[in-house]
Amino acid sequence: MAIATNLGFPRIGAKRELKWLLEKYWQGKIGAEELLTKAHDVRQNNWQWQADAGIQQVPVGDFSLYDHVLDWSQRVGAVPNAYQSSQLVSELDRYFAMARGTQKGVDLPALEMTKWFNTNYHYIVPEWTEDQTFHLNAEAYLNEIAAAQAIAPNARPVVLGPVSLLLLGKLKGSDASPLILLERLLPVYEQLLAKLNEAGVTWVQWDEPVLALDLSEEAQKSIQKSLEVLSRSFGNLKLVVTSYFEGLRENLALAFSLPVAAVHLDLSAAPKQLDEALSLIRPEQFLSLGLIDGRNVWKNDLSKALDLAEKAAKAIGSDRLLIAPGCSLLHSPVDLASETAIDAELKSWLAFARQKLDEIAIITQALNEGRDSVADALRQNAEAIQSRRNSVRTHNPAVRQRIESITPESLLRQGAYNQRQGEQRNRLNLPLLPTTTIGSFPQTSEVRQARAAFRKGDLTADAYQKFLETETQSCIRRQESLGLDVLVHGEFERNDMVEYFGEQLEGFVVSQNGWVQSYGSRCVKPPIIFGDIQRPHAMTVPMAKYAQSLTQRPVKGMLTGPVTILCWSFVRDDQPRRDTCEQIALAIRDEAVDLESSGIGVIQIDEPALREGLPLRQQDQPGYLQWAVDAFRLASSGVSNETQIHTHMCYCEFNEILPSIAALDADVISIETSRSKMELLDGFGDFQYPNEIGPGVYDIHSPRVPSTDEMVGLLRKAVDLIPAERLWVNPDCGLKTRGWVEVEAALKSMVEAAQQVRSLL
Ligand code: GLN
Ligand code: ZN
Repeated sequence: MAIATNLGFPRIGAKRELKWLLEKYWQGKIGAEELLTKAHDVRQNNWQWQADAGIQQVPVGDFSLYDHVLDWSQRVGAVPNAYQSSQLVSELDRYFAMARGTQKGVDLPALEMTKWFNTNYHYIVPEWTEDQTFHLNAEAYLNEIAAAQAIAPNARPVVLGPVSLLLLGKLKGSDASPLILLERLLPVYEQLLAKLNEAGVTWVQWDEPVLALDLSEEAQKSIQKSLEVLSRSFGNLKLVVTSYFEGLRENLALAFSLPVAAVHLDLSAAPKQLDEALSLIRPEQFLSLGLIDGRNVWKNDLSKALDLAEKAAKAIGSDRLLIAPGCSLLHSPVDLASETAIDAELKSWLAFARQKLDEIAIITQALNEGRDSVADALRQNAEAIQSRRNSVRTHNPAVRQRIESITPESLLRQGAYNQRQGEQRNRLNLPLLPTTTIGSFPQTSEVRQARAAFRKGDLTADAYQKFLETETQSCIRRQESLGLDVLVHGEFERNDMVEYFGEQLEGFVVSQNGWVQSYGSRCVKPPIIFGDIQRPHAMTVPMAKYAQSLTQRPVKGMLTGPVTILCWSFVRDDQPRRDTCEQIALAIRDEAVDLESSGIGVIQIDEPALREGLPLRQQDQPGYLQWAVDAFRLASSGVSNETQIHTHMCYCEFNEILPSIAALDADVISIETSRSKMELLDGFGDFQYPNEIGPGVYDIHSPRVPSTDEMVGLLRKAVDLIPAERLWVNPDCGLKTRGWVEVEAALKSMVEAAQQVRSLL
C-alpha cells in the first residue's frame, strides 16, 4: 500500500497564534511557561489536523519557535561563544538572543539571517569556527516525538542532515569549507539515530536540501560519506532522503546510490525526473513522490498527479511509494476555510495547507483502492481544474493583444543615458551629491490605526483620505526643513509595497488570512495572481500629484517593479512566470507614463526582489536575468528622456548580478551598502557602473542614529570609488519601521554629511 506522508506543516497557526505568543513573550507580557505550553498546543493541533486528514507519516520536529536551522545549530550543541554568556539564564533566552539579538544584561547582535533557497522564508545562518565542537542537545526534540506519537503513531521525525546544516552556515575567519567539520559532527548524528531507535521510530525524513543545488565534488562525497558512516547506526530506521524546490538533475544518481530506504523527488518542481528515477531506483528502495505543490495556493490537478503516481506504481509497485507534497507546506497559508471574502468560483481553484493534506490522502487512496474509490473527490477536482482553465477571468484578450504588440523598441528609453542625464539635469537642477530617501516614512500607530478603522468601516473614505493628506503634508514639510533635495510622499497609504498594487490591479485577489512565515514572528500575505493583469485606473497618481502640489522641490513617484510584485505574490501556474511578469510590467509602465504626464519628473521603480528570483541552478540563471531585466525595462521605458527613473535594491549581495543591474538602465539606483561599509561599492566601481548611484549611508534596520562623521567617512569612501557627479546620498532602505525622532535626527546628520563632502569637492 502506498503511504500518505507530509514533509512539514506551517508553524504559525491558522490565526497566527505563534506570532502573537512570541511577541507577547518578547514584550514580557507572558512568561516562558505560557509561551511553551501554548506553542505546544499549536503544534499538537497541527499533528491532529494531519492525522485526521489521513496523513500516516505525520512530520514531527518541523515545528520551531523561530527557525528550524537555528534549532539544529542548538541541537548539535553549536552555540557561538558570545551567546554562551552566563547573563543569558535560560536556554530560551539564549535561543532568542541568537535569533534576534538582546540588550538585556548583555548586548548581543542577532546572528545573520538569509533566505531559505529561493523562498521568502529566512533562516538563521549557523556560525562555525575551526575549533568547533559538537554535542547532542535533543531532549526537547525527543519529547516532541513522544508527544506526536501519541497522536500519530507513525509520526516521522524530520532531521536536517549534517551536510546541508554545515553548508547553510559560515565558517568564521576561514576560507575553508564548513565541510571540514563533518567528521567531528557525525558522532552527534550517530547518537541521535540511537535515540530515535530507542524512541521506536521507523521512518525518518532526512533533509539534505542542498541536493537540489549545484554541488561541488566535495559536497557530493560528503553526502555519500555521511550516510555510509551513519548507516551503521540505522538499526530499525528507514531514512527518506529529501530535497526540494528543484529537480535533482546530476545528483539523481548520487541520491539513489545512498544507503537509504527512500529518495524523495519534488515532482511539482521537476516532474520529468521521474523516468530517470524509476530507472535508477534499487529494488529494495522506496520512492517518495512529491506531487503536490507545497509553496503555491492552487488546487492540484489530481488526475495529472495520479498519472505520475500510477506510472511509478506500475514500474515498482505501489507498496514502495510514499505520497507527499513537493516541499514542506511551511510555505503555504494554513487554511482556505478562513477566507470569507474570496468569491466562490475563485475559491474553488485554491488549496492552502490543510486542503493540500486532503489532496495527498485522495491520491493515496486512489492508488491503493482505485480511482473509483474516490470518484466524487476526483470529479470535483476535475471540475475545479476545468473551471479555472476555461474561465474568462483568467484570459483577457485586450491584455494578450497588448503583449503581442511589444517590440524591441518598447524596452528602450528614447535616448542613451548620457543624453538623458543632460536633459534631467536641466530640468531638476540638483546640487552635486543630491540627497533623498527611499520612499516610506514612519508607519506610526496612528497611521496603522487609521487604516484599520477605514477597513472596518469605522472611518469614511473621505475622512481617511483627509488623514492621509495631512500625514503626507507634514511629511513634505519635514523633508523641506531637513533640506532634502528630492522628496517623497511617504507611502502612508500603503500597507505593503506589493499588496497595495495587488489590491488595485485586475487579475489579483488579496486574501484575508493567507499568511506565510517570513522569519520568526514576521509573516507576509502575498496577493494571489489568478488571471491576466490589467490596470483599471491610475493607482498612485492622485497622491503623487497632491504631494508635488505642496512643494517646489521634485517629489519622486513611487512604484513597485514587476519582478518584485511577481516574486512577492502567489503566481498563477498555468503560464510561465515571465509572461505574468510582462503583464505586470505593462501595468507599471502605464502608471509611470501617467505620473509623468501629471508633472512628476522623478519616478522610482523598486526592485528589491530582483536577486531573489534567481533560479537555484546556475544553468537557469541567465535566462531568468534576461526576462527580469526586460520586464523592468518595459516598465520604465515609456517615459521621456527628461523623466528620471530611479530603482532601489536591498537585502543582498548584488555583485554577482552587476551586469544585469547595469542592463536595467535606470538613471539612478539606490542600494543597501552601509552594513558592508561601502564594500559593495568596490564592485560597482570596478565594474564601472555607468549610471548614477546612491549607496545607502546608514542602516535603517537599527534604531541607532548614525553620526555625521560616520556618514562623511562613508561618503568620502564612495567618492573615491565612483565619480562625484554620479553619486547620490540616501539611507539604505525605506524608513517605515522607524520612529520619527530617530528618522529626523538621522536625516539631519545625513544632509549635513552631504553638505560637508560637497564642500570638499
Ligand atoms: N519604497 C519602499 C520603501 O521605502 C522600498 C522598500 C524596500 O526596498 N523593501 O518602503
Ligand atoms: Zn530597500
